[in-house]
Amino acid sequence: MAVTIYYEQDCNPEAIKGKKVAIIGYGSQGHAHALNLKDSGCDVRVGLREGSRSWQAAEDAGLKVMPVAQAADEADLIMILVPDELQPAVYEESIAPHLKAGDTLAFAHGFNIHYGYITPPEDVNVIMCAPKGPGHIVRRQYTEGSGVPDLVCVAQDATGDAWDIALSYAWGIGGARSGVIKATFKEETEEDLFGEQAVLCGGLVELVKAGFETLVEAGYPPELAYFECYHEMKMIVDLMYESGIHFMNYSISNTAEYGEYYAGPKIINEQSREAMREILKRIQDGTFAEDFMQDCKNGHKWLIEQREAINGHEIEKTGERIRSMFSWLKEA
Ligand code: NAD
Ligand code: MG
Ligand code: MG
Repeated sequence: MAVTIYYEQDCNPEAIKGKKVAIIGYGSQGHAHALNLKDSGCDVRVGLREGSRSWQAAEDAGLKVMPVAQAADEADLIMILVPDELQPAVYEESIAPHLKAGDTLAFAHGFNIHYGYITPPEDVNVIMCAPKGPGHIVRRQYTEGSGVPDLVCVAQDATGDAWDIALSYAWGIGGARSGVIKATFKEETEEDLFGEQAVLCGGLVELVKAGFETLVEAGYPPELAYFECYHEMKMIVDLMYESGIHFMNYSISNTAEYGEYYAGPKIINEQSREAMREILKRIQDGTFAEDFMQDCKNGHKWLIEQREAINGHEIEKTGERIRSMFSWLKEA
């Protein structure tokens, strides 16, 4: 095994229970970390901007809420869960002035540490506990008694027990129930960005869209194209997720399996692989990070244009129509 995996019995719950924890931000990850840690018996406070829309929601969930600077000041472990592009400013203004020697600064993604947008002082620990799943699933699985696996990393070990703290944090949010993988900030940052760009989000949406457009262009009804290229995706992925590609292949027809082996490598071909290598290079050399941060400074101009384009695409309109006509999502 090329990686080290830890489980609950490898973690010391007392390390995190003995700390005053501040969760900065109450979005997708923030609400999940704050609530899971609280339910695990930790001393949690949530740091938010005055006037934040999440303030009431966090209080209604039974959490202590206070301004970011106060939370950072009170806490000895500060987990930064505001959007990556806002973290440098929030850190400079409201967190850095309140860091004490021996404090722990924590992240759920390595972006700002790895690319150098945040440089903490040498006398604090810098750790990461990155759930390998969306925040709402991190919360849901915790309440169901399971947990989303985490990557844990240490960039700075000022106190000598930064790994214990990182593992203990993973225990607190439920990740150790399923397994915690030891990694580095570089590995987490580059792999996470590559995965979401090339496969999970970028690759997937473009694949589904291209399939849909090909069928519609050839005169097939968009509703059928939606079912074939979009709706069935989840069922296929569920089979792979639960039991492997071989089980998915066992479950589909021989006809489908034969077509899979013929067509797959024609669609994801050497040109696609070369494009993936280029995407990885842009991530590794920091070009992606610079482009992203530049667009953020520009008010997310490019990002918003792209978002509006996909929101207005026929596949989204078709999906909305279909999801309102069929019953599989009604109870959700
Ligand atoms: P998000 O956009 O869902 O939430 C951000 C929250 O930050 C907001 O809800 C708000 O409460 C708060 N906020 C915004 N501006 C603020 C400010 N100036 N001061 C204080 N609070 C402010 O963010 P997210 O998707 O949960 O991402 C947080 C971190 O977790 C990022 O580093 C991200 O890469 C990482 N991460 C996210 C996911 C995910 O499922 N979304 C998965 C793994 C890691
Ligand atoms: Mg990510
Ligand atoms: Mg079929």
